[in-house]
Amino acid sequence: MINVTQTFFPPLEEYQRYLQRIWTNQWLTNRGELVLELEEKLKTYLSVDHILVTNNGTIPLQIALKLLGNGGEIITTPFSYVATSAAIVWEHCTPVFVDIHPEYLTIDETKIEAAITDKTTCILATHVFGNPCHIEAIGAIAEKHHLKVIYDAAHAFGVTYKGKSIFEYGDVSTCSFHATKLFHTGEGGALFTKDAELEHQLFYSHNFGHNGPLAFHGLGVNGKISELQAAMGLAVLPYMETIIAERKRVVDFYNQHLNLDKIQTLKIRVNTQWNYSYYPVVFKDEVTLLQVQKTLNAEQIFPRRYFYPSLNTVDYLSGQKMSVSESIAARVLCLPLYAELKNMDLEKIICIINTLK
Ligand SMILES: *Cc1c(COP(=O)(O)O)cnc(C)c1O
Repeated sequence: MINVTQTFFPPLEEYQRYLQRIWTNQWLTNRGELVLELEEKLKTYLSVDHILVTNNGTIPLQIALKLLGNGGEIITTPFSYVATSAAIVWEHCTPVFVDIHPEYLTIDETKIEAAITDKTTCILATHVFGNPCHIEAIGAIAEKHHLKVIYDAAHAFGVTYKGKSIFEYGDVSTCSFHATKLFHTGEGGALFTKDAELEHQLFYSHNFGHNGPLAFHGLGVNGKISELQAAMGLAVLPYMETIIAERKRVVDFYNQHLNLDKIQTLKIRVNTQWNYSYYPVVFKDEVTLLQVQKTLNAEQIFPRRYFYPSLNTVDYLSGQKMSVSESIAARVLCLPLYAELKNMDLEKIICIINTLK
């Protein structure tokens, strides 16, 4: 069976060596030695000054919205994983959708200003499939209207934009280290900010507001990751360069052999060093997509409809019409992409798509 992705499992002995340290320390959570080591190694790998590793990629969105959203309107993208919009509703803010760019698939920055009201507090945009949003335009709009910018960078591990880590942009960036993501700790995630005062608040918020055992520094929640998850991250991290190189091989193979005259692939923004995280293809219509999906499924190949449905059509979210996002969501399929994928299997996938597209 070939799925859209396959979780990378490091050699068991290497994971066990980290477990041995946990047993020796007799320490499982509350920012233990392995969590601190993982944060240090990620800072080096990503070339960032600050990182706070968390228990998943959703709680960082909630914490950032709790601190910066103020219960107001949050301008956001309808083309993302549901966690992006759900976090807004969960934090008692109101999502205000702005349609996406038809080729970059990120929020259409030219439509943001028209959606701003006196209740708007933040822009929460997703670097979808690791493709950066128009960071400069969004930054200028935010500055002009005194808004905060949160980037859901769940897909963007290792991406650089203009020579800097993508996580360095916006007031806050978040990442997910879920097992299906590029880099993983089983479950996990991270928060990034360059603002020292905000970092302080994010830090206390992710640990119940604890300021030592007996005092509190504001409201908090439990966003802590355990030593067991940090061990997985430490065992996976040394393989990232190989994983990304192998994924590049797969992406290059698709690019070379897929007949691209009737299907659209992701347009990566200039000045980006991309991470080969997803391979979305957009078909001419949904009927073609369903036909391709059915034929692949019959061969035990399971691409995923990332992201369907367009989030503005989810029942608890608003009903604003988003024609580009709805059109793309109905026609996009993410093809299998992972390091171990064999050329022989890729040929089979490509042959089916080239015949049916
Ligand atoms: C995976 C994902 C999340 C949530 O991350 P978890 O670690 O699963 O909580 C948030 N946003 C996007 C865009 C994602 O793909």
